[in-house]
Amino acid sequence: MDNYFINNEWKIIEEGFDPEKNQIVESIMSLGNGHMGLRGNFEEGYSGKSLQGTYIAGVYYPDKTRVGWWKIGYPEYYAKVLNATNFIGINVKINGKKLDLAKMEVEKFKRVLNMKKGYLDREFVVVDFQGRKTKIKARRFLSSVDKEIAVITYSLKPLNHNAKIELVPFLDGTITNEDANYDEVFWDEVEKSVDEYKGYLNMRTKKSDFKVSTAMKFELNKNPNKINISKKEKYIENKLEFAVDEKNEIRINKYIAVTTNRDYDDKNVIGESVDRVNYAYEKGVDFLLEEHVKRWKEHWEESDIEINGDIAAQQGIRFNIFQLNQTYTGHDPRLNIGPKGFTGEKYGGSTYWDTEAFCFPFYLNTTDNSIARNLLLYRYNHLEKAIENADKLDLDGALYPMVTMNGEECHNEWEITFEEIHRNAAIVYAIYNYVKHTEDKNYLADYGFEVIAQIARFWADRVNYNPRKEKYMILGVTGPNEYENNVHNNWYTNRMAAWTLEYALKVKNYLSENHKMRHDELVEKLALKDKEVEKWRDIKEKMYYPYIDSQDVFEQQDGYMDKELKTRADLDKEDLPLNQNWSWDRILRSCYVKQADVLQGLYFLNDKYDLKTKKRNFDFYEPKTVHESSLSPCVYSIIASEIGYKERAYELYLRTARLDLENYNNDTEDGLHITSMAGTWMAIVHGFAGMRIKDNHLSFSPYLPSEWDDYSFKINFRQRVLTIHVYEKELKITKEKGEKISVIVFDKKYELDDDILTLEI
Ligand code: BGC
Repeated sequence: MDNYFINNEWKIIEEGFDPEKNQIVESIMSLGNGHMGLRGNFEEGYSGKSLQGTYIAGVYYPDKTRVGWWKIGYPEYYAKVLNATNFIGINVKINGKKLDLAKMEVEKFKRVLNMKKGYLDREFVVVDFQGRKTKIKARRFLSSVDKEIAVITYSLKPLNHNAKIELVPFLDGTITNEDANYDEVFWDEVEKSVDEYKGYLNMRTKKSDFKVSTAMKFELNKNPNKINISKKEKYIENKLEFAVDEKNEIRINKYIAVTTNRDYDDKNVIGESVDRVNYAYEKGVDFLLEEHVKRWKEHWEESDIEINGDIAAQQGIRFNIFQLNQTYTGHDPRLNIGPKGFTGEKYGGSTYWDTEAFCFPFYLNTTDNSIARNLLLYRYNHLEKAIENADKLDLDGALYPMVTMNGEECHNEWEITFEEIHRNAAIVYAIYNYVKHTEDKNYLADYGFEVIAQIARFWADRVNYNPRKEKYMILGVTGPNEYENNVHNNWYTNRMAAWTLEYALKVKNYLSENHKMRHDELVEKLALKDKEVEKWRDIKEKMYYPYIDSQDVFEQQDGYMDKELKTRADLDKEDLPLNQNWSWDRILRSCYVKQADVLQGLYFLNDKYDLKTKKRNFDFYEPKTVHESSLSPCVYSIIASEIGYKERAYELYLRTARLDLENYNNDTEDGLHITSMAGTWMAIVHGFAGMRIKDNHLSFSPYLPSEWDDYSFKINFRQRVLTIHVYEKELKITKEKGEKISVIVFDKKYELDDDILTLEI
């Protein structure tokens, strides 16, 4: 996909239609508004390679699990985000022939994702076998102001002929999920209605009983000669016939509203969708678009990263930020961030540790506290389920699921479900990060400590004491590097478990000193005895950490050094990616690392390790890492920046920044890598700009990648908004909002009482 899209700072532009790439481009051209999302499919349908996708946040189906060998503790089902009623649809016939780009000659094709304004445009000319040309233009957006509203405008203009045109705006609920485990159809129809210029379709998911009502209403610039309304099971349409003279245009504006029983009583779901669509229709396209664009302007004011001197880099980072803002808006604490957002079915649209470990910092520092807080509350609200989950494994405390939609575990490969337990620590780490950045310590009293304590309790039960070594160990785990399973004492897991226990003790202490009543109330609620708390202390002090003395680095897990030690340079090109070319047995025996593991720990616990330690571990592990998770390069890039490996940092950064635009992993057709997009943001802000919290102050140690002229971004920090602008030799920090503040730059403290601080770097 090298340079397939035209470089542009604010747009993703596809010029010329390439059917081979269509499914990839559909992912890239996805739209979302936190409530729903659409792949970049064609309104008129397409019989070539395509994945039709319409997704409604939080609406899932518990698809019965498929496993070879059932193990106690496995979840019964996998919650899948559902492909929902196709509402973009407008079938078209020109002179009796169905418009289908897979079967017709296409000229001047252009598909443009306008990231600045949040809409998708498409235009092209189709030519039939008699040389008759018709120009088609389409635009659509999902309102970022009225989350339930979508608008599609679609027009046709015969360029050199008088045409008979048939337009069929429809709602189609006969959709399926490609990834259904048993080819089941997930939706039943509840009710439908169709009339001239309007209609609705109310569908219900089997088992999970979500009701989703989709209402449409449309307007035309010209009355049709004939209207035919019809319906069949799970489907409604209006067939409109027109005679259109050469160079005249026929245009339809299709308004959509999608409501669900997640937000309204069952009996009101239809009424609400009809009310919302009437509202949209009354307001009209121009008004809705204007307020939508205005909201996008606000998003960009908060979260843009501007890069000068490298358009491809600028386009890449904006694409990532655009998709992050489309995926999660923080308006609903019941929602979270699926690794593919609303852009495909893979990963079920569910929540992974990706949220806390990778996405959290972006939302934490680009918006006010409430958004990050909602991400934390999501886990708080699932605490009971996490306790049940631990109980299924005969363990105390809470084990948060590896994959979930509603708090229940959905993953069913034993080496991950039961063993990739490090995920628990990321949830505590996000709370720690939140409090550190916002100073909202009340969160600890109100919600945080319960989660932290139950996770601490889990670790305290999961460790075992080895009396010969007088150390606590964590056996049978999978670390972040999933190319090792069932290992003993994964350094990262042990380290983060001990850190969790230490933090739990600290928070308990803080509550006892500052929120005594709440502390006592929580101790009672959690039945937390002194003996148990003492055990936390003992474990944290006597945790075992594997170490490679000869290299002076942390050992990824017990026995890692027994492996044949090789590097990426020893691999042939044909070996990569390993997960598509090697047997699992060979992968497990090899020393190759899928993604940051020890380095993930050094990134999280950054202030606890010196540069030399980070450098030694980077030098040892990076050459052995194949970066076969999109979550890997960003972490390595950040550490590379920190230890002064600027070129390597930039190379690793590039792997994340344009991952989907270049289809580096060869899987963009399944959907976008939303969570790695947050990693790209981190690689700039934490990596190139070196942002950390030091001595309770915001701190930077910035540098400029040599490929760029300068870059700047905004940080929302403790009720202030700061713009950080990095030039080759200068750093400029501008306080845009809020009280005065001191910042640390390269370990020196500066007061920002005038609104601008300029320093040589
Ligand atoms: C990674 C996990 C990640 C998951 C979803 C896997 O390939 O190894 O760390 O949680 O993808 O993004």
